[in-house]
This record gives sequence, C-alpha cells and structure tokens, in this order.
Amino acid sequence: MTNDTPDWLRLQKALAVEAEQGFIDLMGRQYRFSEFLTLSFGKFPQVLPRDERWRWQEIAAQFAKYPQMELQDRQHLIAQTRKYLHQLQSQSGSERVKEGRSEGGMREYSPSNSPSKITKGFSGVQNPTTPIVSEVSRRLAPRLEQKLRDLPEIGALKADKLVRLGLYTVRDLLFYYPRDHIDYARQAKIRELKAGETVTIVARVKRCNCYVSPRNKKLMIFEMWVRDNTGELKISRFFAGARFTSRGWQESLKRRYPAGSMVAACGLVKQNKYNKLTLDDPELEVLANPGDSIDSLTIGRVVPIYALTEGIVANMVRQAVISALPAATHLQEPLPSGLRQKYGLMELKDAIANIHFPPDSDTLQRAKRRLVFDEFFYLQIGLLQRQQQAKQIQTNAVLAPRGQLIEAFYEILPFQLTNAQQRVLNDILNDLQQPTPMNRLVQGDVGSGKTVVAVIAILAALQSGYQAALMAPTEVLAEQHYRKLVSWFNLLHLPVELLTGSTKIAKRRQIHSQLATGELPLLVGTHALIQDHVNFQQLGLVVIDEQHRFGVEQRARLQQKGEQPHVLTMTATPIPRTLALTIHGDLDVSQIDELPPGRQAIQTTVLSGQQRTHAYDLMRREIVQGRQIYIVLPLVEESEKLDLRSAVEEHQKLQDSIFPEFQVGLLHGRMTSAEKDEAIGKFRDNQTQILVSTTVVEVGVDVPNATVMLIENAERFGLSQLHQLRGRVGRGAAQSYCLLMSSSRSPDAQQRLKVLEQSQDGFFISEMDMRFRGPGQVLGTKQSGVPDFTLASLVEDEEILILARQAAEKIIEMDATLGRWRLMKEELKYRYERLMGGAIMT
Ligand code: ADP
Ligand code: MG
Repeated sequence: MTNDTPDWLRLQKALAVEAEQGFIDLMGRQYRFSEFLTLSFGKFPQVLPRDERWRWQEIAAQFAKYPQMELQDRQHLIAQTRKYLHQLQSQSGSERVKEGRSEGGMREYSPSNSPSKITKGFSGVQNPTTPIVSEVSRRLAPRLEQKLRDLPEIGALKADKLVRLGLYTVRDLLFYYPRDHIDYARQAKIRELKAGETVTIVARVKRCNCYVSPRNKKLMIFEMWVRDNTGELKISRFFAGARFTSRGWQESLKRRYPAGSMVAACGLVKQNKYNKLTLDDPELEVLANPGDSIDSLTIGRVVPIYALTEGIVANMVRQAVISALPAATHLQEPLPSGLRQKYGLMELKDAIANIHFPPDSDTLQRAKRRLVFDEFFYLQIGLLQRQQQAKQIQTNAVLAPRGQLIEAFYEILPFQLTNAQQRVLNDILNDLQQPTPMNRLVQGDVGSGKTVVAVIAILAALQSGYQAALMAPTEVLAEQHYRKLVSWFNLLHLPVELLTGSTKIAKRRQIHSQLATGELPLLVGTHALIQDHVNFQQLGLVVIDEQHRFGVEQRARLQQKGEQPHVLTMTATPIPRTLALTIHGDLDVSQIDELPPGRQAIQTTVLSGQQRTHAYDLMRREIVQGRQIYIVLPLVEESEKLDLRSAVEEHQKLQDSIFPEFQVGLLHGRMTSAEKDEAIGKFRDNQTQILVSTTVVEVGVDVPNATVMLIENAERFGLSQLHQLRGRVGRGAAQSYCLLMSSSRSPDAQQRLKVLEQSQDGFFISEMDMRFRGPGQVLGTKQSGVPDFTLASLVEDEEILILARQAAEKIIEMDATLGRWRLMKEELKYRYERLMGGAIMT
C-alpha cells in the first residue's frame, strides 16, 4: 500500500476485528494490533490535510499505550478512532457513494407500489419474498446514505453503539448480513430431541451455573438447565479467554438468564458420555423475562443472528435493521436481467431484505444464493479485468519453441516426458511465442516432474538469446535445483551459477558482472536474486518454484529485473479448484496431474503412541537393508507447555538410547545455512541413516534412498503439509512408508489423518484439508491472499462460484471496461477494493 492513498478499509477492518474479539490486542501475522495501529498512524498519508497531522500523531501515541490500557479505555479509544476515520473518509471523498449514486438517494419518499410495503405485522400470510416491514416503511423509507443517528428509531445513543460494529449509514446496516438465523419454524419439544439434529427449543430457565474448567484455566463453562412441558435439558456454552473467567463477568452472564425467563436455544443436539442429550454451544436468546409477554419479533419466524460486540444486544441490531430495511427498495439492480434469469438470481433489493428477515428457510436460501453469487462475481470480474490488462502488455522476448538447445536436451534426458508433462510444456511453449508475457502457474504433485518442464522453458529462452532466472524459497531447494541443472548444463556446455545469502562476496561480484554482460545465461538462487545489485543484460524468463512461499512483492521484484519477461510459477501444493479460482483467477493455470511411471504408492499408516515399537521395528529393518529414515517433529523447542518433544531432545534420545548402532543427524530451522548444508550433505551421503528434522525438510530435500517418513504429532499439521512431507520418500524404486504418529483421541483428528492412509492424490487431499480446516489454513503461508468473503464459502459454494466465473467471463468478453453497465462498474470498484484489502495486518 502506498503512502498517498490511506488504507481506510484496512484500518477500519483491524479496528473492527479487534473490537469483535473483545479488545485483546490481537496478534496479526506480523504485528500485534496495537503495533499495527501505532505504525499506521505514525506515517500520515499525503492526502491528509496538514492540520490533521497532530491528530494522527496523537492517535499513534495512544495506540502505543494500548497494551497497558484497561478494557474500558481500549473500547473508548477504538470507538473514537473508528468515528474519526469515518469522518475523514467521508471528507476525503474516497468514500464510495455520495448522495445520488442511487436514484433513491434523491427521494425522500418512496413510492408505495412495492408489494413489500403492504404486509402488516407478522402474523398475516407472507408473500414469499416479502420481508418483515416496520411501521416507518409506510411513512417514509430512509435514504441509503442517511446516517443511522438521524433515524428516529435509532437516535444518537444507539447509533454511537452501532459505530462499534462499523455501522454508520443505512446502507452499512443493510449490508451487515446476519451470520446465522434461528428457524423458529423448526421448533422442537425437549422430549422429541434426537442426537445429530439441529433444532430450536423454547423453554424456561430453571437455573444456571458458571465455572472455570479444571483442565484449562482460561476456559469458562456456562451451564443452564431449562424445561418445557415435555422435559428438561442441560445447555452448555464455552467461553475461551482469560477475561471470561472473572467473577464479575460470570455474574453478569448469569443475570442475563434469570430463573423463569423464556429462552430460545438453537443448535446441534449431542449425546454426552452419560448418554444424556445436551445442546452444546447453541445460539441463545432471551425471549422474555419473567412476567413479560413474549416478544412477537422473535416468535414464529426465521430470525437473524448478528455478530455483536460489547454493549450491543441482539434485539438492538435487529430493531435497527428493521428500521433501515425499507430503504432496500432504493437499491438498484446492477446485474442485467438476462443474467439474473439465466442463473436464477433473486433481485438485489429482495435478497437484501430476505437475508435479514426471510419468511422461511427456502427464501433465505435463495437470498443467500444471490448474495453469494455477487461476492464471487465481482471478484471474478476484477480478476479477469486484471488478466485482460496483463494481456495488453507487450514483450520483446518472443521465444522460439524449437531449437538446438532443446533438441540437445532431449538427447541427454534419460526418460520420456509423461503425457501430462508434455501437455503442460505445450501450454508453456505456446505462451512463450506470444508477444505478451506469459503468466502461468504450473500445479503438480510432489514428484510429478515440474523441474524438467521448467528446464525446457529455460532452454527456450537461452536459445533465443535471453537470460533466465530460477528462484526457490530456501537455500536447500535452490541448491538442489542447482546441482541438477549443473549436471545437465555441463553436458550442454552452458554455464549456470548459484546465488544465495551464503554466496561469498568475491563469487557474488563475479556473478553480478557476468550477468550484466550476458556471459551468464542462467542464475539459480533464493531471495538473493531480487537484491539491488543483481542486473541482467536481457532477462527473458523468470521461473519461481514453490511460488506460494513468496510474497506478491518479491515475485514482482524479480520480474522487474527484466523488461516484461515471461513468468512461470510452480507449486507442489495443489489447491482445490475453488481456492485456485479465487486466488489465481487472473493467472493461466496448468496441471501436471500424472506421476512418472514406476512409482509405488507410499504405504501410509496412522499409529498411536502404543504402537511406537512397531514403528521402530520397521525402521530398523529398513536401515539394515541399507535404507534411510526421516523423523519429522512439529517444533524446535518446547513452547507453551505443549507436550511436543523438541527436536534437540528427541535427537539426543534417539541417538543415545534407541538407535545407538546407527548415526542420527539433526536438522532444524534455527541452524545456520552451513550447518544445514552439512546435515543434509551427511544424510545424502548416507553418513547418517536417520535425519531428525523440523518441517524444513518439507521442500527440497531429495534423497531417493530414504524409504521411511515418520511424523510425530501428525495431528498438528495440515493434510497438505503432511502430503508434502510424505513426498520426501518414495522417490526411488523401493517400497516406502509413511508413519503418522498421533496420540490425539479427537475423532476429528483421527478422521483427518485417515485421509492420508487412503489417498495419494494431492488435489483430493487439499480439498479435504480445506473442508477440515478452512481455506486460509490450507495455504498456511506468508501470502495467503484469500479474500474475506462475508457469506460465500469456498467449501460449500463451489457450484455458485463456477457459475459466477462463467457469468464474469461472458461479461468481460462483451465489454471488459463494463462501460455498458454503470451500476455494475461502481459496485465492482467498491467490492473489489474491499475484498482485496482483506488480508489485514500482514
Ligand atoms: P517435482 O514436480 O516434485 O519438482 P521433480 O521435477 O523433482 O518433481 O521430479 C522428481 C523426479 O522424477 C526427479 O528425479 C526427475 O528426474 C524424475 N522425473 C521427472 N520426469 C520424469 C519422467 N517423465 N519419467 C521418469 N522420471 C521423471
Ligand atoms: Mg520441485
């Protein structure tokens, strides 16, 4: 983000997230919340009026003190800052909508021809797409940009509270989608409950109780006994975090559910270990206190649940939404009606109304479908536009697909390319002949043979008189590539050099000068390649291995070493299709979906602690036959009292007491490069038979003689990562084994690990990984870049995503500038920026 456009959204988002999480000074990927804010306010954007500067400095200073502040002061500071940013934002004009963006904004009074206005109360027959409508709507629907504080039903007091949720205007509120609904239509009686069903019960509170979990001092457990006229039920809720364990907090929680009050609870029925049914962590809502008549707002309908924050109760947001809802009629439809019909999409204004107060679950589903479609659609339009723009760029590096070097390489290659390799290579060679730079991602499982394909692309550049660069994320991997390339390039009489952080200064100088003169055609290396002194004479192709381990900026910097060079990125971590479309929607993607012949499946077994001797027996047998073993541990040093054995200790133990007859090596992330090289070198030469390592072996290490991969505490890793680690064995002809040690009793963990026993297919595994852990976790790297969708889910909504992509392609084909669709264009600008601003505090 540059300094001249302030990143309001990022700041607002950070503030909102911190508030939602209860002002705990969240840890971001790089900074704590307070640090992030101090830094952000510490440098003012150029558009900031001069006389605001002191204010920024003051805010920066206050956030520096945030960690020492009491909860109340934190709350106050955040609310003030949010309010201030909002003001600035509207002054600076970077705010999305001014009056009149929508026609409705001009009108004070909305026409009464819409059927949604006529419904009375909540008891009458509901028109299927007709939302609940409050009294005001009949008088006048508020304007979309009207401030919430100016609505008589809300007023300044409540509006100030809503600010904590980032809600200022009527429009904000309309687009503040509920995170769930309680379907009171599916009400069940306590006696009829069955484990596994999601139900809503309405019952009276008998008593409740709070206590701190004896096993976890930071977990507060809240129990409540309720009854209806058929029976009694225990409900439990869990509150994780030190602040919930205070007496005061517990008492205030109990006061919310006084005996005799009527509550609704919605959640999954579970059977506990005493065979009793319970509701674990349900949505809970007090319908009426003793003596009240029951609140008609919540009974007999599908009721929205909103994300709340301190001091804001459910009904307050609901009431506010109800007063804002009539303004939905002012929302204009950005999507052409043909498109809406083709994909069966509800109109925007109806979707908005129904996402809040749907008459039934079916209508809710249709509303959701429309809004999910929108989230995907605008993102895809944005990505496709970016792709289009990239295709406008010209390059001089038009590379010939055939030539002497490639011919010579085929001569020395000891095997035939697989069909998949050939197909992907054709895609690449075709790109290289175009006058626009290639931007292609090759996905292929570990061992699918991506390197050879990249080498042929490199040779295409070289034989046309251009230079090439190959960048890898670790020294180990860079060196691996270098060794392989040297062996091939020697036969082709071509020079190649390696540049990493540990390259000696004299060598480094030599490389710099040979690059500049063009004497050196290919440079392999790590991040060292993007340093200032590295200048190519004529860089035609950039290859980035394990691209997801680099940030966007690092990739761009390598690219800038040439004039519009072609870019080939590679990854051995296949990702599910939905995720690929979302984060790589602007790239061309090819898959190597076939392994070279003769590979044996790696026999994978999940073992518990008691089966450890079985594992050690197998290892011993393999070593006696001359094979080698990896043992991978999750951490280097004991941290946070997790009962993980540290690599250092484990190494000691294995060497001294378990395998004294063999040599055991150690590799971990805190070692210097030289130490790492030595450890890997010894393992490669079979001077050590066992290599105890942290996940640094994940990429790069290639020792075909290793046949057993044992992973400790396997449940702590993601499936894709385990699959990567497993890929370190099975690289030779011999049968290989992967042993996943896990003492976790959690059925979820066991089920997850079983996926690896059953499958060797990286795509399938990553799909499962995403289902278990969510999209952000699957990438689990520096630059995850998964946008923050509000409603859409990459796990659940694949079908809608595919349709949205189709629709977006069609639109871009018709008019990439969206000149024909003014509203769509405006919507895109707003949405796309917001989605892309999603990754905060990185
Ligand atoms: P990755 O896709 O994991 O980078 P590599 O390119 O390192 O895979 O290839 C893994 C191994 O398979 C290497 O030893 C490579 O020489 C070999 N290999 C690649 N393609 C073929 C093929 N078509 N037939 C046989 N072996 C191959
Ligand atoms: Mg590779």
